[in-house]
Amino acid sequence: MLIVFIGPPGAGKGTQCRRLVDSLRIPHLSTGEMLRAVMEQDTALSRYVASYINAGKLAPDHLVMRIVSQQLKSPQCERGALFDGFPRTMVQAQMLDDFLAELGRPLDAVLELRVNDEALIERLLKRAKTDGRADDNDATIRERLRVFHEQTKPLVQYYASQGKLRSVDGMQAEDAVFSDIRGALKLP
Ligand code: AMP
Repeated sequence: MLIVFIGPPGAGKGTQCRRLVDSLRIPHLSTGEMLRAVMEQDTALSRYVASYINAGKLAPDHLVMRIVSQQLKSPQCERGALFDGFPRTMVQAQMLDDFLAELGRPLDAVLELRVNDEALIERLLKRAKTDGRADDNDATIRERLRVFHEQTKPLVQYYASQGKLRSVDGMQAEDAVFSDIRGALKLP
């Protein structure tokens, strides 16, 4: 099963994805986590990636696609994968479609988690106090939200027109969101 999870920063994608992979038994491919792992090394590439992430900007499409395609071809993704935070631009969505067409494995569903901007800012500022992520500060949070609306939101229409979109209200309590996600995917 191949599933894409779309939602603004702070919507709770990470938490819901962890619960979903536990029940679906497919790997969780978070491009944010993969890029943070690259940043932990001390190389020219890690400094290049950090220059985007720490400014709240998106990493270049080809770099992200290269990382994702390597993972997707690995044996751990034989049964599928849950993409968290990918694709994030129309270019990435088209590259993913082309890559999956080559593999003969179409996407099964795209989940959209909806949360309003005020709630997101509040959640992210709270997370900043506990997680210590360099990109969870007021200026970067606002930039990430702006980038989401400008570059990622158009994917909702793109996947709706493919008949793959399932939208879930992310303003509810965690368990209620998870139950709606299971319903949207028609899981028992
Ligand atoms: P996340 O953990 O999903 O909130 O991602 C953290 C940061 O990693 C984002 O603000 C971007 O700078 C970068 N990032 C994550 N996924 C992508 C992607 N698919 N394309 C470009 N940049 C990404």
